[in-house]
Amino acid sequence: MFKFKKIPLTLRYFVLFEIIHGLALTIRHFFRPKITLRFPEEQTPKSPRFRGLHALRRYPNGEERCIACKLCECVCPALAITIESEQREDGTRRTTRYDIDLSKCIFCGFCEESCPVDSIVETSVHHYHAESHTDLLMTKPMLLAIGDRYEDIIAKERSLDAPYR
Ligand code: SF4
Ligand code: SF4
Repeated sequence: MFKFKKIPLTLRYFVLFEIIHGLALTIRHFFRPKITLRFPEEQTPKSPRFRGLHALRRYPNGEERCIACKLCECVCPALAITIESEQREDGTRRTTRYDIDLSKCIFCGFCEESCPVDSIVETSVHHYHAESHTDLLMTKPMLLAIGDRYEDIIAKERSLDAPYR
């Protein structure tokens, strides 16, 4: 292969060989297959096991699935979940507070695995960001809103036909 460095320095400066070298490199790569993507229009494939943003789900009639058993709170190795609960007039128990501190969460998935009613889930949603610690403190209304918004996707991902189920 031709070595530009073998050309005397003065001559290289005079005929701007570095620029020609750079343009040759650009032209060579211009016609090669591209390995970059035009995000967000194009995205890399995601594993079906990907664990992203948390959500609390409801039943089709709108009732919260969560029965405040606190299994997820107990199993969380990062102590990221905080639950408070009370008994309703009909005798059922529901959470009055369900917080997840995403700055502590290690996205291990133990919470969703422990949940007996498929209430807390980790969605495949990864398009979110935070500019401060408080942006990562998820409250019950926020988690329910995420569940409502992505329920169709969550149900599809957790169906028996989904890969790795
Ligand atoms: S994914 Fe793991 S660390 Fe995060 S809230 Fe669930 S149990 Fe805790
Ligand atoms: S989300 Fe599931 S595991 Fe956690 S308290 Fe509610 S029912 Fe229990």
